[in-house]
Amino acid sequence: MVAGVAGRPVRHSLSPLIHNAWLAGAGIDGVYVAFSPAETGFAALVDGFRGGVVRGLNVTLPFKAEALALADQASDAARAAGAANLLVFREDDEVMADNTDGVGLLAALRDQADFQPNAGPIVVLGAGGAAQGTVAALLAAGAPQVRLVNRTRARAQALADFFGPKVSVSDWVDLADAQSGAAALINATSLGLAGGAPLDVDLTPLPATAVVMDMVYKPLETPLLAQARGRGLRAADGLAMLIGQAAPSFEAFFGQPPPAEVDVRALALKALEPNS
Ligand code: NDP
Repeated sequence: MVAGVAGRPVRHSLSPLIHNAWLAGAGIDGVYVAFSPAETGFAALVDGFRGGVVRGLNVTLPFKAEALALADQASDAARAAGAANLLVFREDDEVMADNTDGVGLLAALRDQADFQPNAGPIVVLGAGGAAQGTVAALLAAGAPQVRLVNRTRARAQALADFFGPKVSVSDWVDLADAQSGAAALINATSLGLAGGAPLDVDLTPLPATAVVMDMVYKPLETPLLAQARGRGLRAADGLAMLIGQAAPSFEAFFGQPPPAEVDVRALALKALEPNS
């Protein structure tokens, strides 16, 4: 059985490590490989996999929206996120799209920070693909209000228009006000990624009961998470989300949940070490 991940670049994806460790642990005769089609080559890749010889694909940047568009059927989660991170190739040639990033996000918040989205207003930084999926998952899980803050206001406004009155938009200069009374703050921008532009946020206005999550996981302990822990706030990291989205993908590919005894977080942490 073959499954994989498609992205560009895909070389540093941790998904092959995670899925192959689970396959070995479960004793399944299968393999999970990385594909990096040309910018214009994703549709041909998907067409070539129709029929189910390859069980399915996880999809990452920049193909997530195209994956949804190419599929014959899509889950509510994929439609609300406007993107698919999972394609399943059925034997009848149909391609099914799903989005398990939301499952991963909620698992990370629950398992690492004991947080449920109905706890109160949630500040989401960003308005790109990850932010759309995040807002969709939070609202579906009962978040009473989402406060979007993004560099490009128009992009945040477009998401607010898409999701309706539970989503409001604030400018970056008003971030302190947006944090007031919030139950959580989630970074869904690419800021804070190792080697990239830093995320400059002062968490002082957040209530002491709030939870902070960073979807960036390189480095794992981002300055945002370090600041949150320094304030005594509960925190959840992007690696927990990555593993959380991989679990339902594995089940969709191979027909059984991943083996609980395989510590894929420890393996991923080792792979994330600077010199590995
Ligand atoms: P997009 O490119 O779609 O969006 C990027 C977002 O970051 C936009 O909101 C953009 O703002 C903002 N941004 C980028 N650069 C700057 C800057 N210099 N100053 C201010 N804002 C900036 O990316 P995605 O939404 O797909 O991904 C976002 C992050 O989430 C990535 O780091 C990705 O790796 C991570 N991610 C993690 C997952 C996990 O499992 N842990 C799953 C999915 C994503 P603007 O609109 O103004 O350009």
